[in-house]
Amino acid sequence: MATGFEIHDLVWAKMKGFPAWPGKIIEPKPEVKRPANNKKVHHFIFFFGSENYAWIPEENIYLYSDHRDKFKLEKRIPKGFKEALEAIEDELKEKPFIKTFKTKELPSIDEELAQIFPGKPSGSPQKDYTREPLKGKKKKRTDAGKDGNKSMETQNTVRRKRMSNSDDNPKPKKAKVIAKVTGSPSKITLSPDHKLKPKIRAELPSPRPEHNLPMSPPSHSYIQASLSPGNASASTQIEETLLKVKPVAKPSIIPTPMRIGFLGLGIMGQGMVMNLLRSGHEVTVWNRTALKCRDFVKSGAFKGNNPAEVVQSCDITFSCVADTTAVKDLVFGNYGVLQGISKGKCYVEMSTIDEETMQDVAEAITARGGVFLESPVVGSRVPALEGQLIILAAGERKLYDECYSCFEAIGKKSLYLGADIGAATRMKLIVNMVMGTVVAGLAEAMAMAEKVGLDQEDVAEVLSVGALSCPTVIHKSQAILSQRYDPHFPLQHQQKDLRLALLLGDKVEQPLYVASAANELYKKARRLGYGESDISAVYRAASN
Ligand code: NAP
Repeated sequence: MATGFEIHDLVWAKMKGFPAWPGKIIEPKPEVKRPANNKKVHHFIFFFGSENYAWIPEENIYLYSDHRDKFKLEKRIPKGFKEALEAIEDELKEKPFIKTFKTKELPSIDEELAQIFPGKPSGSPQKDYTREPLKGKKKKRTDAGKDGNKSMETQNTVRRKRMSNSDDNPKPKKAKVIAKVTGSPSKITLSPDHKLKPKIRAELPSPRPEHNLPMSPPSHSYIQASLSPGNASASTQIEETLLKVKPVAKPSIIPTPMRIGFLGLGIMGQGMVMNLLRSGHEVTVWNRTALKCRDFVKSGAFKGNNPAEVVQSCDITFSCVADTTAVKDLVFGNYGVLQGISKGKCYVEMSTIDEETMQDVAEAITARGGVFLESPVVGSRVPALEGQLIILAAGERKLYDECYSCFEAIGKKSLYLGADIGAATRMKLIVNMVMGTVVAGLAEAMAMAEKVGLDQEDVAEVLSVGALSCPTVIHKSQAILSQRYDPHFPLQHQQKDLRLALLLGDKVEQPLYVASAANELYKKARRLGYGESDISAVYRAASN
C-alpha cells in the first residue's frame, strides 16, 4: 500500500501507552513478526536512544521535520529522551534535503490522552492509570559490572533508566488485557547467541537494613538443601544441554531494573530463569535442592539460602514449584516467603494449585504489606526454554505491569484476567483439563489401534496431516511410538491438574464425565510408576 513515508524518514513514532519518541523508518527485520492487523498500514521503526525497533501503525507516526517541536516534552522528561532527540537532530543535520508533508495534522495533547485512555474524560487520567514505582526498586548492586563488561552495563543502564520512568507513561487500565509480549518496541534483546557470563559474584547483596532477617536459618526447613542429586525431583535433574538451548529470537526487551527472585528450579523454573538472565534481568535463585542453582549461578544469577532471604533481597519474587503442598511449605514454612515479606515486596505465584490455597497465600502476603499476583503458565518444557509460554495473571494490576519485561522474557503472550485472585488458576485448570483429556484420548486410540491390527505409525501420520494436527498430538504420538517418556510435563502434575479441575467442577455442579475418566487413566499410570514421566506415559496405563 502506498504511503507518504519512506525508508530512512526521520519521524516521531508513538507506541501505545508511551510518549512519542524520535525514530527512523527502516527496512523490517525478518525476525520481527508483522502485526496481525493487516487493515492498518504499519512501518518498521528504529527508536533512537534505546536502539530498539518495532512495527508502528502509520496513524501514530509523524514526520519529524514537520513536527520538530511538537512532542518535545517539557515536564516529566523520560530518561533517554534527551539523548534520542540529540541523535535524531544529528541525523537531520546530515540530510541533504528536508522532507515535509505539511498537511498531516497532529492530534492535540487532549486527543493524545484520549487515545491512550479511551473512554476517560480529559483531565488527569494519570490518577487511575499511572504505574507507581515499587519501593526501593532503584537500589543498585554495588558489585555489578565487575566482570569488565562495561559496554553492556552502560547500555543496560540507559535502557533501564528509560524504563524506570514508566511513571511518565501511563497505561490504560482494562478489566482484561492481552499483551503480545513479543514485539515490544522498548528495547533490544540480547541476541540469542549472547553468551551468558557471570556478571556479578554469586552472593546475595546485603539485605536492606530496615528489613533485617537473620541470614542463618535454623536447622530445618529451608536450609540450603542437600547437595545430593538423589533428593531432586527425578524429572528435574539439570541437563548439560540446558545452557545451550536458544530462546526464540525476540525483538526487544528492556529488563526491569528491579531485583528479581525466583523460587523453584524444576522443569519450568529452569527455562524461565534462563530467559530472565538472557534478557539481562538480575535474578536471585533458590531451589529446595540447592545443586540445581549451580548452573544458574555460573550464568550470572545470585543464590539465596532460603525463600525468606530471596524475597527480602529482591523487589519481585516469582515462584514455580510442584503443587499445593510445595507452595504451602515454601510460603508458610520456616524461613519461607512470608518471613521475607514487608511493605511493598512483590510476590508472583506461578505454580498450578487450587484457588483456595492461592487466595490464602494472597491474603497472607497482602496482610504483611506485600503485593500479590497469581500467574500460572501454559506451555511445557520446550516453550519454557524458548521463552514461549503463555502467562495467565490475576491480582494486583500494578504488579502485572511491573512484571512486563519478565513476562516478555519468558513468554509469547500474557493475559491479565482481573483483580479476582483465582481467575488465572481457574483458566489454567480449564486449559489443562483439555490437555489431559486430549492426551488420554490419544493414548487410548494408540492402544486400540494396536489391538485392531493397525500400525501405530500410520495412525500418527494420519493424525499429523489432518485437522487434529497440533504440537501436542504430534509430539505425544511420537513419544508413544518411541516409548520415550522424558518429562516435558510430568504426568503427576497433569493428574494433579485434572483432580483440581474436578474439584472445581464439583463446586459449581458442572458434570465432567470426560475429565473424570481421563483422571482415572492418569491415576492408573501413576500407580504403574509413571508419575515422574512425561504425560504421554499415560499410554502405558491405556495399553496395560
Ligand atoms: P518439576 O519439574 O516437578 O519441579 C518441581 C519443583 O518444585 C522443583 O523445583 C522442586 O524442588 C520443587 N518442590 C517440590 N516440592 C517442594 C517443597 N515441598 N518445597 C519446596 N520446593 C518443592 O515441576 P515443573 O514441571 O517445573 O512444574 C512446576 C509447576 O508448574 C507445577 O505446579 C506444574 O503444574 C506447573 N506447570 C508445569 C508445566 C510443565 O509442562 N512442566 C507446564 C505448566 C505449568 P526440587 O528440585 O528440590 O525437587
